[in-house]
Amino acid sequence: MAARALAAKTIEMVEVGPRDGLQNERIVVPTDDKAELIRRAIDYGARRIEVTSFVNPRRVPQLADAEQLVAMLPERDDVTYIGLVLNRRGAERALASERIDELGAVCVTSDAFGTRNQGQTSAESLAEAMAIVAMARAAGRTAQITIATAFGCPFTGEVAMDHVVDMAKRAADARPREIALADTIGAGTPGEVAELVGRVSEAVEGLPLRVHFHNTRGSGLANVWAAVGEGATTVDAALGGLGGCPFAPGAAGNVATEDVTYLLERSGIATGLALDPLVEAARWLGNIIDRPLPAMVSKAPLFPE
Ligand code: ZN
Repeated sequence: MAARALAAKTIEMVEVGPRDGLQNERIVVPTDDKAELIRRAIDYGARRIEVTSFVNPRRVPQLADAEQLVAMLPERDDVTYIGLVLNRRGAERALASERIDELGAVCVTSDAFGTRNQGQTSAESLAEAMAIVAMARAAGRTAQITIATAFGCPFTGEVAMDHVVDMAKRAADARPREIALADTIGAGTPGEVAELVGRVSEAVEGLPLRVHFHNTRGSGLANVWAAVGEGATTVDAALGGLGGCPFAPGAAGNVATEDVTYLLERSGIATGLALDPLVEAARWLGNIIDRPLPAMVSKAPLFPE
């Protein structure tokens, strides 16, 4: 696997800290600080950033400032700003701003999670995601489809790989920019990740594959490595390892941007991110959040000096 991973040479990172990272925090981070987080992400090299989610502010109060934040985004031709949306209404809100370059649509593997997370069954969420991609394209933007709870559901447990592969195949028909497999509750292990990434890559024929891991059970980085070895091209990560899902009990943080960057760069795989400003940004974020962040690399001495 190592040889195949190294052959990839470059992995694209998506910084999801401003959205996934902050949505589950007890404190509501001020909009100015979110804008600063995005500026710092651009400084450390992030060129695709999930900036917010256009969801009902009563459901996710931490992201109620979506429109205000989007108005503060730096004007950069070389940065893709992603807005997460769960339905057509959210897509309309996101597309109303010229600054959102890409819509992030989310479908889920189980009716139990879908109903709680977004008021949709699994089938409804896939249909909605495909409609969102069509809306993005009609508006001259790109869109991605994420299959959430791809490695386990917080309510129904095991998720059949056949079901995920089938969803991915159908999602690919909408011609999104990429398909993502998300381990929303951090249940997956490297063996499962390698198998599912391999099967989905085959099923979606040439469409790039993104992965999104949470470190709930400590297998986040190993899962990244397994996915990269099987040909995933893009990895989501959140600065400091913040994150979680308000509708998935006990879900811990995303894999940390600085930890994934260290892992890949030291293995000879370029990420486009620079570790020094990344670690500095993580320390800044720790002061904003006012609690120790789960990430490891930003707590350790710089290596090499
Ligand atoms: Zn997540």
